[in-house]
Amino acid sequence: MELLVLSGGLESTALAAMRRPALTLTIDYGQRPAAAEVTAAAAVCRQLGLSHDVLRVDCAALGSGLLAGQPANGGAPSPEWWPYRNQLLVTLAAGWGLPRGASSIVVGSVLGDGERHRDGTAEFYEALDRLVAMQEGGLRVLAPGVDMTSDQLVTASGAGDEVLGWTHSCHVTDIACGACPGCHKRREVLGRLGRLR
Ligand SMILES: [Zn+2]
Repeated sequence: MELLVLSGGLESTALAAMRRPALTLTIDYGQRPAAAEVTAAAAVCRQLGLSHDVLRVDCAALGSGLLAGQPANGGAPSPEWWPYRNQLLVTLAAGWGLPRGASSIVVGSVLGDGERHRDGTAEFYEALDRLVAMQEGGLRVLAPGVDMTSDQLVTASGAGDEVLGWTHSCHVTDIACGACPGCHKRREVLGRLGRLR
């Protein structure tokens, strides 16, 4: 049974439409746009007829960069970098999903994320999959979009405007700021695909 980590952004929403996972989970880990991500993900799941749950674990004390509302760490590869974020999210999702029957954790990283932070690369997810799979429970970690651009993933998903319109990709606030890398990317992808409203 697949458990999709659903932030309510374009990429994880595309995976929700494409894979129709049995479980979707939005994690409020203390990121600034958490409330909007939860609202977006819930609306996406309503549109798609998928179950949706929310897990709240306040990790704000560990964050830095745009998502945490903090200055970036010295040596941060990109302004939104939150150290160890993706392995943190997979760990939380695996811990939540194991007793609920999940057999795999699906995440929405895409081609290009790895240029912004190492924990968005295919190599990272291969290593994380090995690490999680060797432990009790044998869960797998899948990043089905990691070799696709956002444009390719959104197109392949077949997600309609009634679904994509709910997505929220801002790194900074609950009301899209229009200026952060997340907002820029969402606007560029939807613009290129002729889906901007
Ligand atoms: Zn923004």
